[in-house]
Amino acid sequence: RTGYLAIVGRPNVGKSTLNNRLVGAKVSITSKKAQTTRHRIHGILTTEDCQFIFVDTPGFQMQHRNALNRMMNRSVTQTLSDVDVVLFVIEAGRWGSGEDEIVTVLPDNRPVLLVINKVDRMQDKGQLLPFMQKMAETYPFAAIVPISAEKGQGVDELLKVAAGHL
Ligand code: GDP
Ligand code: MG
Repeated sequence: RTGYLAIVGRPNVGKSTLNNRLVGAKVSITSKKAQTTRHRIHGILTTEDCQFIFVDTPGFQMQHRNALNRMMNRSVTQTLSDVDVVLFVIEAGRWGSGEDEIVTVLPDNRPVLLVINKVDRMQDKGQLLPFMQKMAETYPFAAIVPISAEKGQGVDELLKVAAGHL
C-alpha cells in the first residue's frame, strides 16, 4: 500500500521534528524538493507493508483576508483534501487560536489524525486522557495519537494508525 500524508499544525508544535523522525536524515540533506505532478514531496518512508509519502503543505495565513492569503488558504485546503491521511499536530494540553484556525481548513472527506506531540513535557500525565476525551467529543478526528516526536514515543503507533486509514 502507498499513501500520501500531509502534516499540518501551527508553528513550533514539532512538525519538522516529526517529519525528520519519520523519514530520517534523508530529507535534511535533500536541498531540492522532489516533485510529483500533484504534490511536492517532503520525504518517503517505506515500511514492511506500506509506503508513506509525506507531502508539503503550503503555509496559510488567517490574519488578513486579502486575495493572496485567500489563494494560499485554498491551496492548503486543496492539498489536504488530496492526500490520503492528514496528520494534525498540536502540543499536549495546548489548544489555542492557531488550532481554532486550522480546524477550519481541515478536510471533511479525509481521515484527520490528531497528533498530540510533546507528551514527554507534560507535567501531569493524568491530564492527557481527559484532554484526549475532550478532543474526541468536540471534533470528528479519525483517531487521536499522543507522541513525542523528539523522544520517538508513540511514533510507531502513529504509523500503524495511519496505515489503517490507507
Ligand atoms: P515546527 O515549527 O512545527 O516544524 O516545529 P519544530 O519541529 O521546529 O519544533 C519546535 C520546537 O519544539 C523545537 O525546539 C523542538 O526541539 C521542540 N520539539 C519538537 N518535538 C518535541 C517533543 O516531542 N518534545 C519536546 N519536549 N520538544 C519537542
Ligand atoms: Mg518546521
